[in-house]
Amino acid sequence: MKNRITESELVLPSLYLMNMNNGSITTSELIEKLRLIMKPSGEDLEMLSSRNDDKFSQKVRNLRAHDAFERTGYAKYSGALRNSAVTISPAGKKHLEDNHEILTYLLTNDFEYADVQKNLREIESSERKKLIFDENIVIQEGVKKVSQVKKYERSAKLRDYAISYFTKCGHISCDCCSFDFENFYGKDLGKGFIEIHHKKPVFKYEDIDIQQTLKDAIENLMPVCSNCHRMIHRNRQNPIEISYLTNQIELHGAF
Ligand SMILES: [Zn+2]
Ligand SMILES: [Zn+2]
Repeated sequence: MKNRITESELVLPSLYLMNMNNGSITTSELIEKLRLIMKPSGEDLEMLSSRNDDKFSQKVRNLRAHDAFERTGYAKYSGALRNSAVTISPAGKKHLEDNHEILTYLLTNDFEYADVQKNLREIESSERKKLIFDENIVIQEGVKKVSQVKKYERSAKLRDYAISYFTKCGHISCDCCSFDFENFYGKDLGKGFIEIHHKKPVFKYEDIDIQQTLKDAIENLMPVCSNCHRMIHRNRQNPIEISYLTNQIELHGAF
């Protein structure tokens, strides 16, 4: 299984960081921030024998030597090699805008390194348009801004489908701690309430039927209570495994 990051997989996350940093970022900042948002693992964390540096840093440094941004015209380097900075171009801004939604979804949901990589690779290589299901948007009921209506409807559909799928004998409960909102808060307030966590990224391809997509999506979803969901997403730098969470609940949890 391939797990080393490639230069083309680093392009969009780098543009994302340049944009957040007023358009320009130094190489050392880029390395540091890419590390935070990508959470590299496996071989990319191996140290290089000759330097006090790992393979992930080396890959980011190589973006300059290999003209990764200049070739696409998305960004341009300036300054001396040791202290170089890279600046996003109008074409880079356009590329980022086209993929901003999907990128935000991938980079802010604690997905595994390999899953983020796989999807970045597909964005750069495929013409098929991916649409996201945002797990946050349906939790915040008030977020129906005009620009988000389509995404809201899509995500709400997935949520409804998941709730009916995971409801057993009229009840739905947290997969981690078994909390049942209806039992705790009563039928009027609690019935049917749950949050839906995305274990792996869930997309809809524009050309595939939504009903089919929903069926395929189910295995990547998990019904969780609001507390467990917050715990899962608590620490972006050190994301927790579901098995770790359920272990902690077994050790410490008490109702
Ligand atoms: Zn729970
Ligand atoms: Zn989640």
